[in-house]
Amino acid sequence: MKPAPFSYHAPKTLEEALTTLARVAPEEGRVLAGGQSLVPTMAFRLARPRHLVDINGVGELSRLAVEGEKLCIGATVRHAAFETPVVKGPLGALLADVVQHIAHKPIRARGTFCGSIAHADPASEWCLVAAALDAEMVVHGVRRERVIAAKVFFDAIMTTALEDNELLTEVRLPLLPEGTRFGFYEFNRRAGDFAIAMALATFRLKDSKIAEPRVAIGGVEAFPRRIFPAETLLEGRAANADTFMAAAEAAAKEAEPLDDAVNTADYRRSLVRTVVRRALERAAS
Ligand SMILES: Cc1cc2nc3c(=O)[nH]c(=O)nc-3n(C[C@H](O)[C@H](O)[C@H](O)COP(=O)(O)OP(=O)(O)OC[C@H]3O[C@@H](n4cnc5c(N)ncnc54)[C@H](O)[C@@H]3O)c2cc1C
Repeated sequence: MKPAPFSYHAPKTLEEALTTLARVAPEEGRVLAGGQSLVPTMAFRLARPRHLVDINGVGELSRLAVEGEKLCIGATVRHAAFETPVVKGPLGALLADVVQHIAHKPIRARGTFCGSIAHADPASEWCLVAAALDAEMVVHGVRRERVIAAKVFFDAIMTTALEDNELLTEVRLPLLPEGTRFGFYEFNRRAGDFAIAMALATFRLKDSKIAEPRVAIGGVEAFPRRIFPAETLLEGRAANADTFMAAAEAAAKEAEPLDDAVNTADYRRSLVRTVVRRALERAAS
């Protein structure tokens, strides 16, 4: 099928993008970033925006830079940018590891980090990273700028705190301290498919004990989130199989999995146990 008719707008500055979006948002205007989620849904006529505001010509949105202790990722930075580490240290390595699980090369060449965050698919790897690391989302409208914490940005399935007339201009990720270990594990049926369940774990070792643990799951619930009972269990314990099993059990108990015709809630819960344990094992190895 072909998309329903729409008007195309190609602003060249952020100001122009914001004023155009403010004007067309009430008439079903949408932002076009990499188009890797929006265009297929338009082709199937599941989405019928009457206006597209293409942000790819806005130079200032392509920024990928370290500022203070944060990595700032602009709205048009592609997934593929992360295939080699964009910053020295654990964060660059973590992003380079995770990006390999997002779709396939052609999609990674066009799709954007911020587009994934705005789209908020429950199985988005970048949404999991944002939740696990407590990312900040920088959002601009014509009249105001807001910085929204990941824990309040994701609302429900494919629903965020973004208003229709707002642009996600940048996502900021904290640089991880030297010595931070990370482990990512994703389960899906074929390489490149969306995750059925995945987990990201980070921690440091202090006197051979786990310090500052973070455990987050994605693809399981309406949106990715940190699992605090698992983190509490890990803090100060030895990084061994018993500890990891206990944390995985706590995560499975805490999860409120989605239930659908293909993957039942029980099945997803059992996957949580596995992906959390394997993510922790990878972080330790
Ligand atoms: C076959 C296939 C497999 C895929 N597999 C995966 C996968 O395994 N993991 C994964 O995470 N993704 C996957 N994707 C989705 C892909 O990663 C998309 O690139 C991503 O979801 C959206 O980014 P985009 O830049 O393409 O956004 P677009 O498609 O342009 O936009 C998506 C939505 O977000 C809005 N939007 C985009 N940018 C902004 C912004 N800056 N501010 C406000 N709103 C904005 C748009 O209006 C639209 O509603 C897959 C896609 C395909 C086609």
